[in-house]
Amino acid sequence: MIPPVDLSLQHAEIADEVAAGWDAVVSKTAFVGGPQVAEFERDYATFSSVAHCVGVANGTDALELALRAVGVGHGDECVLPANSFIATAEAVVRAGAKPVFVDCDPDSFLIDTKAALAAITTRTKAVLPVHLYGQLAPVEDLRDQGIAVVEDAAQSQGATRNGVNFLGDIAATSFYPGKNLGAYGDAGAVTTNNRELADRVRLLSRHGSAEKYVHSVLGFNSRLDTLQAVVLRAKLRRLAVWNAQRAAAADYYSTLLSGVAGVKLPQVLPGNSHVWHLYVIRVPERDRVHDELRANGVGVAIHYPTPIHQTEPFVTGETFPNAELLAGEILSLPIFPGITRAQQERVAEVLIGVLA
Ligand SMILES: *Cc1c(COP(=O)(O)O)cnc(C)c1O
Repeated sequence: MIPPVDLSLQHAEIADEVAAGWDAVVSKTAFVGGPQVAEFERDYATFSSVAHCVGVANGTDALELALRAVGVGHGDECVLPANSFIATAEAVVRAGAKPVFVDCDPDSFLIDTKAALAAITTRTKAVLPVHLYGQLAPVEDLRDQGIAVVEDAAQSQGATRNGVNFLGDIAATSFYPGKNLGAYGDAGAVTTNNRELADRVRLLSRHGSAEKYVHSVLGFNSRLDTLQAVVLRAKLRRLAVWNAQRAAAADYYSTLLSGVAGVKLPQVLPGNSHVWHLYVIRVPERDRVHDELRANGVGVAIHYPTPIHQTEPFVTGETFPNAELLAGEILSLPIFPGITRAQQERVAEVLIGVLA
């Protein structure tokens, strides 16, 4: 079986470093906070060319905290694409606001920025461009509207648009194990160039407390675990190389599959450097193709089979034709740092056979 993602290759590279780092944490029994977390926050901010990073417990918390930091609350509306992982919408509701879904561009899969602008009302407090599959959305279209731009950067660690990784007011990312930068459990972070927003996220995520037992606002407990910080720091040092390996694998898929009848290859927007969290093609009869590939040992997946506005907690009765069309055609091929050419050739061979 060729897995959709093979994390064991990354682990093999960092195993010794993680063991030594974890020993150091355990020998001090300093399980929460500590220099490991601060060092990772500093390194991740540098990697993302941003001034501030606050580590939190997971990507969904990161989104909720970022929304709360920019002032999103009850009665507000937030505009987001219908084709994302459900967490983008969950965070809006958890922050007390109403999600307002918009469609996506059918070629890039990214938020339709014209539709997003058209959805802004006097109640809109934020827009959430999602950097889906590893390329940055055209955030420049969404700035200067008098609302906050909160980036869902869970899939775009290291991606750039016109040379820049961070494009909005504040960004939330996830270090779920399968992400480009993945922890050994749940973890996430918020990044921003705005000191006040960073302080606000830190305050909210530490029980509303900047000073021990002084609680100025109602907060949460959402911290980046110290043992996870050790893993993330070791992986971060290799992330640029691993992202380059993903890009090389994406190029090779494009070579292997270009001209194959029925297959639509992923499109990269001009100015974008894509980090290929996922390599998503479009095929006819997707469910049959998916099942036959899996039956033949090719670990394909679907991200995501149901647009958020059609999931049970969010059913609105609205229709978003592009998001709905794509949900029926998209297929994620195996991609991860260390995937071999032979594995990719096998994926292409089976896919071409299944489509014939
Ligand atoms: C993974 C992901 C999240 C949520 O992150 P968790 O760490 O799993 O909470 C949010 N948005 C997108 C687009 C994601 O891919």
